[in-house]
Amino acid sequence: MTLQASLQDALQDTLQDKTALVTGATSGIGRAVAQRLARHGARVIVTGRDKQRGEEVVAGIEAEGGRARFLAADLADFDDVRRLAGEAADVDILVNNAGVALGGPTEQTAQEDFDLVFAVNVKAPFYLTAAIAPRMAARGGGAIISISTMAATIGMSGLAAYGASKAAIEALTRSWTAEFGPRGVRVNVVAPGPTRTPASAAMGEMFDTLAAAVPAQRGADPDEIAAAVCFLASDEAGFIYGAVLPADGGRVAI
Ligand code: NAP
Repeated sequence: MTLQASLQDALQDTLQDKTALVTGATSGIGRAVAQRLARHGARVIVTGRDKQRGEEVVAGIEAEGGRARFLAADLADFDDVRRLAGEAADVDILVNNAGVALGGPTEQTAQEDFDLVFAVNVKAPFYLTAAIAPRMAARGGGAIISISTMAATIGMSGLAAYGASKAAIEALTRSWTAEFGPRGVRVNVVAPGPTRTPASAAMGEMFDTLAAAVPAQRGADPDEIAAAVCFLASDEAGFIYGAVLPADGGRVAI
């Protein structure tokens, strides 16, 4: 058996029949995470605002023999966050992936945009975790993975509010590790570099400039980020608590 096949089997063993909630699973990185978790045997709750794209992701997973269902939620709406937390309370894996990356000069940042970035990127994961992590702990454990960005670590002009919101989720991950780790809940972060998704397509040439600046000399495929998330969700990462795993082609290392 090759090393890759044996890792595939190990992930299959530890993710089989687990339940997972993936926010922002209607597109890009979240969709790739949902697809990969389902391929490893997990039952996946796909969530986002767009019902049509959500149902397409579910249909794609089911067509491959996986199990998934869609729950619509707008994470900028706190009532929706509460409802989602109630409807998906008993999951083994929570992936806080949904994100808003509004950019622009600090002096031109509208208060509504700042609030939206922090509502979706910080407040929603905070209260989803607040509802779900204690229930994971009561059932003996679980795994929470949040998606950050290299912009949380390196200063990037035009991404001040976005970078700060992701730095917040990294700090929360360390706090939650102290709080929930002793009760069996592992909380970690994957911090992607430039990744080819509908969101990054909107960046145009700036994406290519960012991708050319990473040691890997290219942007990532969303499935490469999903692979890191699935590893952290699995028992293969059983001693990894409170870590920020860069999946950025080496950008924050240089
Ligand atoms: P994407 O393709 O635009 O997907 C974003 C997802 O977030 C969609 O599924 C969207 O769902 C969901 N979402 C956005 N606002 C929401 C809201 N108010 N309520 C509920 N769901 C909402 O973006 P992506 O590139 O895959 O980004 C995913 C994550 O990776 C984000 O946290 C982003 O910051 C991070 N990231 C991306 C890159 C990159 O280069 N692509 C790099 C570093 C980090 P609906 O449209 O259905 O609402």
